[in-house]
Amino acid sequence: MFTSISGRSVLVTGGTKGIGKGLAAAFAAEGANVVITGRDREAGEQAAAELTAKGGTVSFVPGDVSSAQDCAAAVAAAQERHGGLDIVCANAGIFPAATLAEMTAQELEEVLGVNLKGTFYIVQAALPALQRSGRGRVIVTSSITGPVTGYTGWSHYGASKAGQLGFMRSAALELARSGITVNAVMPGNIATEGLADLGEDYIATMEASIPLKRLGSIEDIASAALFFATEEAGYITGQTLVIDGGQTVPESLEAMG
Ligand code: NAP
Repeated sequence: MFTSISGRSVLVTGGTKGIGKGLAAAFAAEGANVVITGRDREAGEQAAAELTAKGGTVSFVPGDVSSAQDCAAAVAAAQERHGGLDIVCANAGIFPAATLAEMTAQELEEVLGVNLKGTFYIVQAALPALQRSGRGRVIVTSSITGPVTGYTGWSHYGASKAGQLGFMRSAALELARSGITVNAVMPGNIATEGLADLGEDYIATMEASIPLKRLGSIEDIASAALFFATEEAGYITGQTLVIDGGQTVPESLEAMG
């Protein structure tokens, strides 16, 4: 259906678990060569080994995206291992809750540092390689929370996710002349390790408010990201795709019928 992306070099930040691991699995299944990053060495090595055992080419580089230095090292590793870099998935993210009244400056800095600045750092580090690629792709994992909806306790998170879209649109313009596209996926509530940490009550409430009556899967997000990476999506840039089971559509619970 789509032109093969086999052999492309892909870097996924936050690929040790959750959506990022799903992105790595999907790209590897298409024959791409994938490097994943994250802070947890054990989880990273394990994820890479697991995906390699399934026939993919996936390896791990430890790194914190809130460090520009670590981002540069991850990009260098992807280039060394796979002869260049074609696709960057800026996916690493955290979502600790804190109300405005209780949020410390450090908590605010951490969320913006990982989710928003981390997106800048990894794309900046990858720029020369993406320019050389001639068919560079940046795929940002944003969220519905912030750009579309709000949630008590997540003002910092929402601001970071909306900020990623502001970044994405201007970056798309700056990079268009190099043939690089920059787009964002906006997941709703996706069944990941991170989401499980929010507890059963949270998950039950969410399932009830999703028209398709289930949480999203990491494959639901990976399919959308893969599309943005194809040749056929090469004329799409600066755009977003909401993948939320319809969660942001109804005005109220009654509206779902
Ligand atoms: P997750 O299961 O908690 O996984 C988060 C990933 O990010 C892990 O691989 C983690 O690796 C990595 N990470 C966290 N901080 C990092 C840092 N400072 N440097 C490098 N890597 C870091 O979360 P998820 O649900 O998959 O979320 C992934 C992305 O999707 C996030 O950007 C999140 O905002 C977004 N999202 C998720 C949902 C959802 O419902 N799950 C909805 C909307 C948007 P280490 O722990 O090894 O560092």
